Amino acid sequence: MGKLVFERPIIKKLSSGMPSKFGMKTKIDPITEIDGNLIKDLISAYDSPLFVLSEKIIRKTYQDAKRSFSTRYPKVQFAWSYKTNYLDAVCRVYHQEGSWAEVVSGFEYEKAVNNGVSGDHIIFNGPDKSRENLKKAVLNSSLIHIDHFDELYQLIELADELDKAPKVAIRVNMDTGIYPQWDRFGFNYDNGEAWDALNRIMLSKKLDLVGLHTHIGTYILTASAYNKAASKLADLAAGLERKYGHVVKYIDMGGGFASKSTLKGAYLSGTDTAPSFDDYADAISSALINSGIKPENLPLLILETGRALIDDAGFILGTVLANKRLADGRRSTIIDVGVNILFTSFWYEHNIVPAQAFSDHTEETAIYGPLCMNIDVIREAIDFPALKTGDHIVINRVGAYNMTQWMQFITLRPDIVMIDTDGKPFVIRKKESIETILSQEEVPPHLQ
Ligand SMILES: *Cc1c(COP(=O)(O)O)cnc(C)c1O
Repeated sequence: MGKLVFERPIIKKLSSGMPSKFGMKTKIDPITEIDGNLIKDLISAYDSPLFVLSEKIIRKTYQDAKRSFSTRYPKVQFAWSYKTNYLDAVCRVYHQEGSWAEVVSGFEYEKAVNNGVSGDHIIFNGPDKSRENLKKAVLNSSLIHIDHFDELYQLIELADELDKAPKVAIRVNMDTGIYPQWDRFGFNYDNGEAWDALNRIMLSKKLDLVGLHTHIGTYILTASAYNKAASKLADLAAGLERKYGHVVKYIDMGGGFASKSTLKGAYLSGTDTAPSFDDYADAISSALINSGIKPENLPLLILETGRALIDDAGFILGTVLANKRLADGRRSTIIDVGVNILFTSFWYEHNIVPAQAFSDHTEETAIYGPLCMNIDVIREAIDFPALKTGDHIVINRVGAYNMTQWMQFITLRPDIVMIDTDGKPFVIRKKESIETILSQEEVPPHLQ
């Protein structure tokens, strides 16, 4: 055993923390391995920082979600939300599990096609679909979710031009008791705009109205909001049945289920507050089966769950760069994981855990990233043991959004490794190098 590190004694006010109904917080354990791979081996093989995804957790979480819904409702289809994590390897795991693709840009649309998803299994959402994008989507029989009237009119034009009826749904926004309301996307239910759009589609006779869509927000902690939303969509579907004898094939409830990450300022941990897939499935399925839709016309239920499916499968491994005392005496620990690659630190209290055994002695610590920028804060204040330079840390539940919203600022983005279900690691996105960046730049002749 090596020489123990000296830790200077400190005087600390004892604060008992916030007990929940289950009592005090339990002691944290180190995370020393992921699916049989030691953290220190992963870092020595691929460098620090390093993103790691567990294929085992991705598949297990997907299967759990699928089971929750398909035991409560007869026809269920998931469509992977590309923007949550569009690494090809990740998307292909979902597609192998049977998921369609849900995309919100021309770029994502191309990625889905590249991943072998057939056109009629691509859902095209979002306010920005160019004429070229729409044309391609119509020709591929993709499911186009109309965001606004200008898009609706453009599709009617394209239907004539291409002599093909585009397959469409409308995105509907509504009051579900969740505020602020996401009313900037789609057509409003409560003021009659959505019904107006549906009548225009039906009367045009140029579009094939196949579905109804909503995405009420993200990290929604109240499952009952989905009950309200599904009831409102079912009401529109029943209206179409009554007025036109038209049956929509599907109702798409979007994404937005909360993951188990903890929001900033939350009183209790996300592991205690996030509803389960069963809760969401109960809320949605009861709205649909109790609606005015005729039983023989019960639509396919589509879910575009992103965050809640992948967050738990993602880890970032990092290394302690230094410890220092702030002017007020508080300890700060600087790690090599910054907000540039861990974008979700802006809204989550990320769970940071040492990757090796540590002393029981903890102290309030600010955890900073490596950027020369004041906003580079991973945790404002966390009860944390003293780690020394070179020690490793693991931040878990980072699978959603970080690998798409990250930015190349000051430094280069790291490798992303996926550990397959046999415990074997594969690089699924290579770390950037100076060449990666320079290959995109050009210097005009007079500056060479
Ligand atoms: C972002 C998005 C999703 C996924 O949302 P999560 O909160 O990650 O589940 C699904 N559908 C649409 C239209 C989206 O924009």
